Amino acid sequence: MKEEKIWKSWNENISHSYKELHEVTTEKELQDIVGSAHKIKAFGNKQSSADISAGVDTLIDIRSYNSLIDVDIAHKQITVQSGMRLSTLLEEVEKRGWCIPCLPDINTITIGGALATGTHGTSGYILANYVKACRLVLANGSIRIVREGEELMDALRVSLGVLGIFSEVTFQCEDIYTLHVKEEPQKDEKWLPEIKKNLEQHDFLRILWLPHTGNGYVIKGDKIHPDTEIKEKQGPSYLKHRRSVSKLLYKYSHRFPWSTAIANKILYRLFFSAKKEHKGSLYQATVTKSRGSTLELAEWTVALDKFPQVFAELKKELNNWNNDAFVHIPMDVRFISKDNSWLSYAYKQDTVTMGCVSRNAATADTYQAFKSIERVFLKYGGRPHWGKRFEAKDQELNKLYPKWDEFKSIRKQLDPTNKFLNAYKTELFNITTYAKETESVII
Ligand SMILES: Cc1cc2nc3c(=O)[nH]c(=O)nc-3n(C[C@H](O)[C@H](O)[C@H](O)COP(=O)(O)OP(=O)(O)OC[C@H]3O[C@@H](n4cnc5c(N)ncnc54)[C@H](O)[C@@H]3O)c2cc1C
Repeated sequence: MKEEKIWKSWNENISHSYKELHEVTTEKELQDIVGSAHKIKAFGNKQSSADISAGVDTLIDIRSYNSLIDVDIAHKQITVQSGMRLSTLLEEVEKRGWCIPCLPDINTITIGGALATGTHGTSGYILANYVKACRLVLANGSIRIVREGEELMDALRVSLGVLGIFSEVTFQCEDIYTLHVKEEPQKDEKWLPEIKKNLEQHDFLRILWLPHTGNGYVIKGDKIHPDTEIKEKQGPSYLKHRRSVSKLLYKYSHRFPWSTAIANKILYRLFFSAKKEHKGSLYQATVTKSRGSTLELAEWTVALDKFPQVFAELKKELNNWNNDAFVHIPMDVRFISKDNSWLSYAYKQDTVTMGCVSRNAATADTYQAFKSIERVFLKYGGRPHWGKRFEAKDQELNKLYPKWDEFKSIRKQLDPTNKFLNAYKTELFNITTYAKETESVII
């Protein structure tokens, strides 16, 4: 009997059967496979919680397509194949005394995966905003070069892999800088009204909000001369065990949701009450390099001006013992500067993002907090992170993104046979021909 081949996401919450899996190293191979496939998806490190990376017969594991192509010293630009890990790109960038000035808190993802989902960091633009140019493999297998300034680039930067497959990508870098990072707990009544002031005064701002404790853990960074001496404070050595202790304390929270509130208070005392101080490059000082365990994520974004209202409503809901929306900590509050990418969270508006984590990936379906955060953010025009868990579809999304319909029309022109759509994306964009097409394939 022929063994069924199964694709699984990193936390095993999503699995799909497939027929063919390709690993590529050259653009020509990428073109040939895309050109001849009926339906195809490229996947990166499989770290998205949304069902966007597989679910069709032909898959490309883009991770082997990972070479450095070119470095343009004069313009501080670097060109890489899209399957390169972010960690490798950042090492290459730092080696040259450069940086990409806004980084996500994860370095294991691929460039293609990060761009497709609008991956972002804090206090700067989304990563895709630093793309100067790229070579895109279109549905028919041909190459289209897309450059900054073209309208297609604004549609493409964040496009969930439905316009084509990124081949080579050129990033604009800047001179590296040293960040002096200070971390401390602050009462919600203090950090919330100070957001705008802190964004103006500091080069980096991130708040790890801690429901059921009345506190946030505020991380501020300022650019300093690399030789500036600072009083290094790393806090007690046991702090490095935060994620494993959290996982243990939340182990039965799906059965006894209220136990989360108690766990949060303990975790706050143990792991979020120390003041810390350190310095390093943005990559060294702010990006998590390893995680011992998996998790499940949702993340919502909303215009900076609306955040205080959203926060007040969400806090009331999440801290309320009369429902089951007890949420694991921390909830990551970050900031993105407005941009022009059609499906960016920050399209034409300065934006606040709020992460929502379940440390029990396997029981995420029953985690009420995901539903609460979606309901509250949607009420205020919030937009979901494309790579994370959410339920909104075309009907809601088209109200949130002014360019939604234009994006759909470009998608149809570039991929008339829906080659890059799986079932999830078909529903997301409400493409009605998919069911018929699948039937005809089966016949
Ligand atoms: C622990 C953790 C921390 C995270 N932290 C952050 C964070 O700080 N900020 C943030 O914004 N997000 C964050 N994320 C989300 C993460 O950045 C995205 O889900 C990202 O897409 C994962 O990259 P990947 O390589 O695993 O891509 P995959 O999940 O494998 O793929 C994602 C999408 O990209 C498409 N794709 C892959 N390669 C290509 C290509 N070459 N061309 C076109 N499309 C392609 C796939 O088809 C799929 O649709 C985090 C996720 C985890 C699990």
